[in-house]
Amino acid sequence: MPHQVEPVGYVRSCFKEKFAIPRQPALAPAARGVLELLPPFDNGDAVQGLEQVSHVWLLFLFHQALEATPRLKVRPPRLGGNRSMGVFATRATHRPNGIGQSVVRLERVEPGRLYLSGIDLLDGTPVLDIKPYVPYADAVAGARNSMAAEAPGLIQVGWAAEALASAHAHSERLGEPLVALIEQCLAQDPRPAYQTPTPERRYGVRLWDVEVRWHYPQAGVIQVLGVA
Ligand code: SAM
Repeated sequence: MPHQVEPVGYVRSCFKEKFAIPRQPALAPAARGVLELLPPFDNGDAVQGLEQVSHVWLLFLFHQALEATPRLKVRPPRLGGNRSMGVFATRATHRPNGIGQSVVRLERVEPGRLYLSGIDLLDGTPVLDIKPYVPYADAVAGARNSMAAEAPGLIQVGWAAEALASAHAHSERLGEPLVALIEQCLAQDPRPAYQTPTPERRYGVRLWDVEVRWHYPQAGVIQVLGVA
């Protein structure tokens, strides 16, 4: 019998576009968001006991990457975007049923609201289910993934003085760790791997309601130019 899946809530996230979102959760601990639950799950009964849990699994829809025709092979950015791999061997967003999963820190629980950090989710992401992280079962000792053996390397992030002052001011206004968020996201080097940056080329992304601009003054180094 066909079964329809409905979201239990939507994420309000610091990430307003796909560009510069870390490739997995926990890579940017300053990336915060709120999961707003829909009726009937906005009743406190649905989250009772979650205050005993530090992390949750979110099962969600890659709502901005849904495709009519399933792919068998994908080119994950992790492999530079030019090597293809079986879709089930990767965590690519283009996948059958468009389902993503992330383990994220649960900072605080309120009836109808979960306050999250370390997220890798776009603003407006529909969440299909929430499950508590269970360390003894979910952290697998001796597990292996030779394709993604460790977290991606980080690059150096520097600041133009005015951009840093502006980031601090916006951080205060938003009540969010914006300086850390910018540094943690840009240190992942969000530029597509196939693009060789020149110092003249400018990049930009929106985090919360703030436009962040940067360039690469030399290979492997980012300089934040503006935060407005
Ligand atoms: N941790 C999840 C997983 O393994 O299923 C997501 C991994 S996926 C490689 C991470 C990327 O998904 C992010 O860099 C972001 O660009 C993209 N993303 C996040 N939320 C999305 C959404 N709602 N729709 C489409 N793409 C999304």
